Amino acid sequence: MQAWTHPACLLHDTGPGHAERPERLRAVLDALHAAFPALQWHEAPRATRGQLLRVHTPELLSTVLDTNPTQRVHLDADTVLSPASAEAALRAAGAAVAATDAVLHGQADRAFCAVRPPGHHATGDVAMGFCLFNSAAVAAAHAIAHGNLERVAVIDFDVHHGNGTQAIFEHDPRVLYLSSHQSPLYPDSGYVEERGEGNIFNAPLQPGAGSDAFRAAWRERLLPALEDFRPQLVIVSAGFDAHWRDPLAQLQLQADDYAWVTLELAKVAGRHAGGRMVSMLEGGYDLQALAECSVAHVAALSGLEPA
Ligand SMILES: [Zn+2]
Repeated sequence: MQAWTHPACLLHDTGPGHAERPERLRAVLDALHAAFPALQWHEAPRATRGQLLRVHTPELLSTVLDTNPTQRVHLDADTVLSPASAEAALRAAGAAVAATDAVLHGQADRAFCAVRPPGHHATGDVAMGFCLFNSAAVAAAHAIAHGNLERVAVIDFDVHHGNGTQAIFEHDPRVLYLSSHQSPLYPDSGYVEERGEGNIFNAPLQPGAGSDAFRAAWRERLLPALEDFRPQLVIVSAGFDAHWRDPLAQLQLQADDYAWVTLELAKVAGRHAGGRMVSMLEGGYDLQALAECSVAHVAALSGLEPA
């Protein structure tokens, strides 16, 4: 098990009162260091332009990397580009690529990337929903192009639908995208009828759904689709904003639900992918919930017992 991060991810400055704030990542890092003192940490490299261009347009790269703002600029109502944002976004996507390489080269079976900004709302050409580059999608495309894989699963249990990841891969059956999310909620996508080439499975859940409905959606709809796909690598968009404490949504999960779904995913990865999993931090906006859920997730991912 490896963990990846970079100090630059703490410097992406979304401004006063913004939910996607540096304290989120600090809470995750502090909790993981306290719970898993033996966890092996690595400093993320920058993603290259070539790695990003597998899923993003030159225009989006130019917006994020070449604007060089001297103060915060808003790309949309809630997506901010600060002077330090390009570096943070490069390190977040770079963590995803490096973790994928480490897992594919057999240096670890699992990896968790504690990074921000999050990525799953970023489409091929639009930064949105706090997301600049879609790090999970960059990792999946890297595994196919560089690792020569034919079947990569991207699993998304963030409370918001990963519209960006779905849009990037909905015509690419080499990637299976599975998402549970609250509906209705931003970004108002992720309906059951959205199936791509048969490689998209969405499980929308009503506000207040809770643990039983969440687990049923995975047990009955999403995990069987993952099993049928026989993934060679499992990438996880790990958002913790479905927790009951989260201020942006109302799905009412407990930290234990993240341990459960992670263990279920690990069983499938163990059967088909040699156990290989790469997990990326996505959303989660309550600091205590982030700490508890990231520890539960990493414990299930690594098999380590929290201190
Ligand atoms: Zn979210």
